[in-house]
Amino acid sequence: MYIDPHIHMSSRTTDDYQAMRDAGIVAVIEPAFWLGQPRTHVGSFQDYFNSLIGWERFRASQFGICHYCTIGLNSKEANNEALAEAVMELLPLYVCKDGVVAIGEIGYDDMTPAEDKYFRLQLELAKEMDLLVLVHTPHRNKKAGTSRSMDVCKEHGLKPTQVIIDHNNEETVKEVLDRGFWTAFTIYPNTIMGNARMVEIVRQYGSDRIIIDSSADWGISDPLAVPKTAQLMLERGIPRTTVQAVCYGNALAAYSQSGQMKETDWRNSPPVDQRQLFNGSSVLRGQKPVTETPRHPVLIE
Ligand SMILES: [Zn+2]
Repeated sequence: MYIDPHIHMSSRTTDDYQAMRDAGIVAVIEPAFWLGQPRTHVGSFQDYFNSLIGWERFRASQFGICHYCTIGLNSKEANNEALAEAVMELLPLYVCKDGVVAIGEIGYDDMTPAEDKYFRLQLELAKEMDLLVLVHTPHRNKKAGTSRSMDVCKEHGLKPTQVIIDHNNEETVKEVLDRGFWTAFTIYPNTIMGNARMVEIVRQYGSDRIIIDSSADWGISDPLAVPKTAQLMLERGIPRTTVQAVCYGNALAAYSQSGQMKETDWRNSPPVDQRQLFNGSSVLRGQKPVTETPRHPVLIE
């Protein structure tokens, strides 16, 4: 069993869900993020948040995957201050909904004053409501941005165990682990953090607090990055218990602190029943509905 604790399923297809389930992914976390172009109305955020806790959660269930999300104002869009103010007012309405496991993904992109302001405001909200935080570290100035993200979390009184620092690499891993934060890695095909590099990081640092995710979205990315990296780790001699920790157990330990995510959610989940509807809509387009248990797929005649 695998968990992909950072994947943007709204940008993926039903084929992806099927392939992920077949590969052993039982649960996903979908962080609220940037959609590739800036939103211009707060209502677009509201509908997006509603889809994360509503339709997308249902859609995942129709393919046998438990879906959770994080809610937050991403760093890029924090730079539109009028919009950011309006989104901040929405957040308290969403962060306590069913299936929301953290505030995120928040943090820095260009490290502008506006990004800093809304990062801090959201950390205050997390502190006040005792929520976990998923931090997106910047792709440029990675090392400085990661250190500063942790400094700011500490400054606002968050415990390192309450914060998942994501998009780490060889340059940041040691400091994040040493400071006691959850240390997540996004496996991007052929680039920033490929899976062969990930194997070496796990070989060097072990499994404690290390988490692997795909961060797959509408860009070049791989929704099977977690199971593929697990396979590569096993082939290259990483112990099975270590693989299990970084591809399943640690994500569960981190996010189950929210009280919103439990192993029994997927161990005891009812069989898939594609006859189900969400607000009158199903995932079917005239096909015969499938009911499925992990071991015995059944086609209903
Ligand atoms: Zn993301």
